[in-house]
Amino acid sequence: MNDMHAPKEAAEGRLALLKKEIEERREDLVELTQDLLRIPTLNPPGENYRDICEFLGKRLGAKGFEIKLLRAEGTPGDSERYPRWNVIARKEGSGPGPCIHFNSHIDVVETGAGWTFDPFGGEVSDGKIYGRGACDMKGGLAASIIAAEAYIAAFPDFPGAIEISGTADEETGGFGGVAWLAEQGYFSPERVQHVIIPEPLNKDRICLGHRGVWWGEITTHGHIAHGSMPFLGDCAVRHMGAVMGEMEKTLFPALAARRTDMPIVPEGARQSTMNINSFHGGQAEPEEGFTGFPSACVPDSARMIVDRRYLVEEKGDEVRAEIVDLLEKVRSERDNFRYDLKELWHTPPTLTSKEAPVVTAVERGIRQVLACEPVHVLSPGTYDQKHIDRIGRLKDCIAYGPGILDLAHQPDEYVGIDDMVDSAVVMALAIDDLLHRAQ
Ligand SMILES: [Zn+2]
Repeated sequence: MNDMHAPKEAAEGRLALLKKEIEERREDLVELTQDLLRIPTLNPPGENYRDICEFLGKRLGAKGFEIKLLRAEGTPGDSERYPRWNVIARKEGSGPGPCIHFNSHIDVVETGAGWTFDPFGGEVSDGKIYGRGACDMKGGLAASIIAAEAYIAAFPDFPGAIEISGTADEETGGFGGVAWLAEQGYFSPERVQHVIIPEPLNKDRICLGHRGVWWGEITTHGHIAHGSMPFLGDCAVRHMGAVMGEMEKTLFPALAARRTDMPIVPEGARQSTMNINSFHGGQAEPEEGFTGFPSACVPDSARMIVDRRYLVEEKGDEVRAEIVDLLEKVRSERDNFRYDLKELWHTPPTLTSKEAPVVTAVERGIRQVLACEPVHVLSPGTYDQKHIDRIGRLKDCIAYGPGILDLAHQPDEYVGIDDMVDSAVVMALAIDDLLHRAQ
């Protein structure tokens, strides 16, 4: 045996073995995905979390994982009717080594209109599995489970540990899921060293992080009076109109001109953006029974919620200061202009280094399995990586998983079976690489 070729041959042998183990589990992978899709874990309100966690615990417990079912009591949305359950499964290896963790959220968003498949049927058609959450992200969860099970079957004497978690509430901020678990120490770097979040970013792409988020609530104040004599009052909606006018004139063009080197997908998000999430002034409009005839009053308050997404090149306090400056400018130009500004949510951008071990391990896997160059991307919106980074202080974390990002939250959402198989092999190779690296 020529020693110079030994490592390469060994690597090829390991790849072939993992491919075989995963290919043999193809049917199991499809059925597992179907089973997960048939548990409707709609969030809000947070349906059936306990059921899906028990299902996952039962499956992984039977494979020798140690199972923890954890309820995030007292977190937003947690109640006796809708408890926030999470599951963590851990399989210890036969010796010391790092812990590799796969984290998937168990919740899905509402189905919406326009489906031609049963959103909770898990139907298979033309090599795809359809259902709400198929790509975002029960397909990724199933692929990571198969990757781990196949890896353990192929190399039962592996060092370190492998963990799989199913966590609540990602779609509503992750406070009863990853954020809570991170607060309890489940994502501390002493316990877990590498994290892969199988969100649907396409099987040849590695997501390094996301843009920052700043949500603000702006309120303008006026003075109530009879609508037939508006000159006796002061219209808060007109004051807010002036704020919007200033945004159109100066802020939106300034944000659009601010470009980034971050490889965000889609490309349209490679700039600063702001959305006006909501705007309301005057008498409340009830959802039912709205007649279109509010009382004749001058509105004395108006409220707007803005959603600013910012780039690594920007600073969070500058994002807020920019809004304050705009409001101060309006105040200097308008009589009786009074406002309040409240920060509702702030998460700075998260960015894992391209040289991080989990990045290079998945890169290697993509090259071996797909024979193409991996693409680094960043997400326009946030996901649970922020909690692992900020609360857990764990930096070696990426999103990598099967599924087409654009299908997330759409009708007739699906995940391709071949894509799940391929990405499971990439995940298994990444496990192998990370467990055997010098730490
Ligand atoms: Zn997701």
